[in-house]
Amino acid sequence: VSGEKPHELAVNGHRIGEASADLRAPMLDATGCVVTPGLVNAHHHLFQAGFRTLSGTRGVAMSAWLSRMAEAYAEVGLTPETVGAIARVAIAEALLSGVTTVADHHLTWPTDTAGVDIAHAVAAAARELGIRLVFVRGSAGGPVGQRGAEHVARSVDAIAQALAPDHGGISADGLIQVAAGPAGVHSDGEETFRLVAEVAAQRGLRRRTQANESIDVERAERRYGARPIELLDRWGWLAPDVTLAHLCDVTPAEIRLLADRGATATHAPACDVAMGWGVAPVRLLRDAGVIVGLGTSGGGSNDAGHLLADARLAMQVSALVGPQLDARMVLEAATLGSARGLGRPELGTLQVGAAADIAVWDVSGVADAGVADPVAGLLWANPGRRPRHVVVNGNVVVRDHRLVHGDEAAIVAELGRALGRRSLGAAAGKAG
Ligand SMILES: [Zn+2]
Repeated sequence: VSGEKPHELAVNGHRIGEASADLRAPMLDATGCVVTPGLVNAHHHLFQAGFRTLSGTRGVAMSAWLSRMAEAYAEVGLTPETVGAIARVAIAEALLSGVTTVADHHLTWPTDTAGVDIAHAVAAAARELGIRLVFVRGSAGGPVGQRGAEHVARSVDAIAQALAPDHGGISADGLIQVAAGPAGVHSDGEETFRLVAEVAAQRGLRRRTQANESIDVERAERRYGARPIELLDRWGWLAPDVTLAHLCDVTPAEIRLLADRGATATHAPACDVAMGWGVAPVRLLRDAGVIVGLGTSGGGSNDAGHLLADARLAMQVSALVGPQLDARMVLEAATLGSARGLGRPELGTLQVGAAADIAVWDVSGVADAGVADPVAGLLWANPGRRPRHVVVNGNVVVRDHRLVHGDEAAIVAELGRALGRRSLGAAAGKAG
């Protein structure tokens, strides 16, 4: 990221080590490659990967989008098997896009149980394929009032206890982290935010939510006569442990407030642009001192879980709302910026002592030829590229463009079986 060109990178166990003369045989050949920290996707909804290009979800109002997605979820059924099969696809896709840490803001939950089995299914898929997972126990409405809020808070507590019981919500090996966050002020009331914050404080969990998508602003103004950022501040949700995704349409005063409170942000342009929400002013947020990460958001709005492609889009659309972002700024957002929002200083960097999470990108082909600056070229040229190798926690998880711990065809076939209960044709006909 700094622009230096390391010729060798040493991995010592789970960490980046000092390069030394007595290096053993190279673990990976990176000839002709640019090496970056593994990418950190700070905002995904893995479950939506089972519902990409779904009819009735494009070019529609957000309220129609929400009900169409809910209908599709109901057809498939919210079982640990289905959630696991979809998560495995989205995680495999993430690794094959150079992502070494993914934050899954899971919003779809049973109302009768804590849903620990759902969280376990996602964590199992992550462990199997070797990605670092941040499981964000989200909520999006559901049972309203005090009872609903208590249910969500109890579920956050139970999931943290099950996956990462230590204070801070990170498993001993650092591969699973639990965080918490309602979907936004448009979907959840003050009591949900309050009770979730209490559990998060007790357990030391990071908090994450979404703000200033267009529906969020509209509903907040209608229900509370206030904008989402103001409400979140009133409810104690603008703080250094909170990351807000989307943040389209923020005012200069709101940017100052976010900076003052130390809240961090996640930019998700491939969702925001597709949904017509606008372009978050990332350059202005950065200039104000707000740490900005990068996320894809989910397959219901962004059909690709390819963070590097979205880094390119972030640069392309940035010039519409201020000075253009350059490649190093966006690469920094997609690594360090995302990691800092997750409270993980050991991620998103290749400094000695950092976690050995590494992406190796081959830039020797025709799509990269003629590039003057290999780091700029990594983001601008060759859209949709896949990394040659990916290392997570010192373990090789993608080697020569292929998953090490999974078979792509088998993962795809398993999703087909999981979704088989749904008749896609009938669903499309109904919605059309
Ligand atoms: Zn989102």
